[in-house]
Amino acid sequence: MSLTSLSEPAGKRRGYTLGVITFDYHSHNDRCGHAIGTLEDYVQQAIVLGLTHFGMSDHGPAYWLEGDHAQPGIQMAISELPNYVAEAMALKERYADRIALAVGIEADFIEGHEEKLAAWLAAHPFDYVLGSVHYALGHSVFNRRHWTAQRPERIFRDYYRQVILAAKSGLFDILSHLTVIDTYSPGIPEKLAAELYPQVAAAIAESGCIVELNTSCYRKQPFWDAPYPNLPMLTELIKCGVPLTFGSDCHAPSEIHFARSKVEILLEGLAISLEAQPNRVKRSHIQTFRAPPRGGG
Ligand SMILES: [Zn+2]
Ligand SMILES: [Zn+2]
Repeated sequence: MSLTSLSEPAGKRRGYTLGVITFDYHSHNDRCGHAIGTLEDYVQQAIVLGLTHFGMSDHGPAYWLEGDHAQPGIQMAISELPNYVAEAMALKERYADRIALAVGIEADFIEGHEEKLAAWLAAHPFDYVLGSVHYALGHSVFNRRHWTAQRPERIFRDYYRQVILAAKSGLFDILSHLTVIDTYSPGIPEKLAAELYPQVAAAIAESGCIVELNTSCYRKQPFWDAPYPNLPMLTELIKCGVPLTFGSDCHAPSEIHFARSKVEILLEGLAISLEAQPNRVKRSHIQTFRAPPRGGG
């Protein structure tokens, strides 16, 4: 091996093209019950790929339901949370000379249960919190049958109403998979998107939240032209100056950095600088992209 190749990122040495996005802030592990690999498996794979920053963000517990482990196979148990945090903190320290690890959690926003959520988030030293809306009108966003049982407009309205509440709650640093409601929907009517998206983007800009470019949609809908958020939503967020980051939402170590190049191509097409800037969140910095200020730059 030549000296030149030793100075290259580890991922490149192993034939992986790292690209300009060298971070990933949305990852799961076997604790949630539907991902494979231990937390350390993910960290080691992120290092092999040559990532500079990696965020651990497993699904937090179903705090709004009764019992310690209300939804096995979807989230970790409430009693498991301290073990998760302790393991993530230990890994952060152990691998500090090789990668900047951030200890996070993906937390569901559930209207009416904000105080409970605030209490358990405050009880742990998270570097950042991903905020997700996974339910609309009481059904999972991945429930295909919901779309035939309800008027689609009602579902979209309820979903984005909750996204705005989540942004305004002050509980989250990064909003996850913003347009995940599209996944199995018949598609949002253009007129409704034109009404709702600017309201959502304005509320997020005011909240100071970061929005992730989440590539899990390409695993569910491989032919889509954009990640979550979709292109019209992304355009509104950019107009409002919302900082953006990257999350593969990986549920296997092999999915870390998933479809990263698609996002790079998209951002370049939208004239977003691919030079990452640190964005301060709770106890850490998150690498973000931003559009140049309007009217110049
Ligand atoms: Zn998951
Ligand atoms: Zn999610």
